[in-house]
Amino acid sequence: MGKIIQLNDSLSNKIAAGEVVERPASVVKELLENAIDAGSTIIEIELEEAGLAKIRLIDNGEGIAEEDVLNAFHRHATSKIKDENDLFRIKTLGFRGEALPSIASVSNVELKTSTGDAGTRLVLSGGKVEVMEKASARKGTDISVTDLFFNTPARLKYVKTIHTELGNITDVVNRIALSHPEVSIKLIHNERKLLHTNGKDDVRQVLAGIYGLNIVKKMVPVTAQSLDFTISGYAALPEVTRASRNYISTMINGRFIKNYSLAKAIQEGYHTLLPIGRYPIVLLNIVMDPQLVDVNVHPSKMEVRLSKENELTELVKTSLQNVFKKQELIPAGYSRP
Ligand code: ADP
Ligand code: MG
Repeated sequence: MGKIIQLNDSLSNKIAAGEVVERPASVVKELLENAIDAGSTIIEIELEEAGLAKIRLIDNGEGIAEEDVLNAFHRHATSKIKDENDLFRIKTLGFRGEALPSIASVSNVELKTSTGDAGTRLVLSGGKVEVMEKASARKGTDISVTDLFFNTPARLKYVKTIHTELGNITDVVNRIALSHPEVSIKLIHNERKLLHTNGKDDVRQVLAGIYGLNIVKKMVPVTAQSLDFTISGYAALPEVTRASRNYISTMINGRFIKNYSLAKAIQEGYHTLLPIGRYPIVLLNIVMDPQLVDVNVHPSKMEVRLSKENELTELVKTSLQNVFKKQELIPAGYSRP
């Protein structure tokens, strides 16, 4: 017998978890994405100790049928793509089939889910099934993740303070709420309400919930359209700035992403209006043919490769410049830096 062996599922899930579940915020992100993919209109997230003690997410989405419940925890098992063609036109937030098995391998999970018929309750510890039984038929999914990283001590050590981890979670939830104003999202930490969006598809309401009404009053609409891209969003007037780039939120097809070129184009859109070392508050929603964007770059699905990046960054830059020209903050005759 040779010396190379195929690792067992439990071990390979833990390895995947190293990338997919970096910290409590990653769990919140994956569970929230699943709830949105399931067509939920109301989602409630309850946290204890910044998610280290408990992350519970209740949604009113389509639920998981009894025969699929165990499969959902298998690696690379997904209902969202079927073949290579689908991989190049992703319309859902998830597609890798990695989140649930990864999360379950480093925590204790209790899942209650129903498609409207008989419901199922599944309890797993470190990825191993402990209980599977019939449960209530309330349509939707209620998943609790407790004792995160209990069996990966090195990762637990790496986790920062409650304050930092909670900051990361609110950042993730805020951005997902901004990309999905049509979904009502409530975030509660240690019984304190941190965010509650109304789900009425009103981005300004979500912005107000996050940044406060006074900031929103200083944000102006941004829109632009080309053959390939539709851009809509809000940009704060240059009198309101922040010390970090963290207030620039870019979404592509409902997914918040981090892209250096886009953030740079946004800053360039402010021309010379931003003081040195200061950054704007901007939210841009970009809609494009999913074939123009590759989200299969990193397990966290936050990085993307854009096939028409130059065209898009140019459009982003000019759309912002046009706003500030209208506000007469940039001279009307101005065209390129
Ligand atoms: P992915 O989201 O990439 O498909 P996951 O491991 O996150 O992989 O989830 C596996 C599958 O479990 C999903 O494809 C979906 O069918 C099902 N699922 C997970 N969460 C939910 C949910 N909240 N509501 C309905 N179905 C869910
Ligand atoms: Mg998922």
